[in-house]
Amino acid sequence: MHFLLLFISVSLLAIQFATASESPQKTLMPLPPLAKVISTEPHKTEKHWQKQTIQVKPNGSLSEVLNEVGIDPRTTYQITQTANSRWLTQLAAGDALEIWLDSDNQLKKILYPKTEQTHYQLTSNDEGFKIEQLQHPIETKIVTASGLIQHSFYLSGEAQGLSAKTIMNLADIFSWEIDFIRQLRPGDPFKVIYEKRYIQGEYIGDGNILAAEIITGGDERHTAFLLKDAKGQSVGYYDHNKQNLRKAFLRNPVDYVRITSRYKPKRFHPVLKRWRAHRGVDYGGPTGTPIRATGDGQIIKRYWSRSYGRVIYIRHADKYTTVYAHMSKFGHFKRGQWVKQGQVIGYIGQTGMASGPHLHYEFRKNGRYIDPLKVKFPDASPVPRKHRNRFDQFSGLMSAQLSRLDPHTQIAANFE
Ligand SMILES: [Zn+2]
Repeated sequence: MHFLLLFISVSLLAIQFATASESPQKTLMPLPPLAKVISTEPHKTEKHWQKQTIQVKPNGSLSEVLNEVGIDPRTTYQITQTANSRWLTQLAAGDALEIWLDSDNQLKKILYPKTEQTHYQLTSNDEGFKIEQLQHPIETKIVTASGLIQHSFYLSGEAQGLSAKTIMNLADIFSWEIDFIRQLRPGDPFKVIYEKRYIQGEYIGDGNILAAEIITGGDERHTAFLLKDAKGQSVGYYDHNKQNLRKAFLRNPVDYVRITSRYKPKRFHPVLKRWRAHRGVDYGGPTGTPIRATGDGQIIKRYWSRSYGRVIYIRHADKYTTVYAHMSKFGHFKRGQWVKQGQVIGYIGQTGMASGPHLHYEFRKNGRYIDPLKVKFPDASPVPRKHRNRFDQFSGLMSAQLSRLDPHTQIAANFE
């Protein structure tokens, strides 16, 4: 079992090694033996060209770059008059150009790797220069990883060869149901099937996560399968019950009697007797009216505040926070506990600074206040009907692969 893991590590190393040896800065053109230079035609074989790699300086131009390797302005001008010259003249600072000169210091070739996929190349021929575009398709390999949580999910994922990007993606996909920092415990198993991307055999980074499974608390199974539409565009992640991994919010936290104050940037505060912003919505209702969590999440604060009275903060999927203030009584959920949408977390009251019994409700996204009555919630509907068949097929295939992974033996393996 460990042999397989080792094999993967070795092959990854090999790829990285290949990357390093192919990178322009580290390549030295082997100098040909002197005898050979004399006995052949040195000018005509690529072997005898000298390659230099020049990095574009801020506001640098092609003429500056060519000047640096000793190419005369006449040749530079000739290049600018060649078709597609803009591919070589629109340079970004920090880009690197590989330039080949022959033994007479004549320009033979320029290679400009614009992106990982697109390279521009200039070659010289009898008529002058030719500038063309070289496209390198991205190859995708599907790989798997599985293991048990040791100390942190990040380190455990890293130990199984997952990149930082894929670890973050996993945390993001499950962010509505799992708190990766506080909830995962040593021994919790995880499995993941994801893409690795290559160009010309060179690893360029991870692609999509296709499927994943994490079991928390011994028996709580969380799954995620990527749904793509017929054109291959990602629709989202859904679990084995076809439910969306994103969750919606209830529009209102109470089966309310009436809204007594809306979200306003500025308003006259009835208790403080001065103008101030109202960054939430007030629901007036009798003391004791149940207050519901508007979304699945974790209670991150539950305390008494001078202005908010008994107040609860719930965090949802890292991004969102909802706040429920002036409660007469808390529900039975404690700080740190997870609540499901619709569960009762407390009761309407008049604690703190309140002129009458009401719920003051706030909605924050990335720490910024939003009007709870206007916020656009994430689309959380289950797998759309038109994608059902495709999803069933794909999740079936992925489930079979996931079930073959044994997190205890910590196998990492490629499969096609
Ligand atoms: Zn209020």
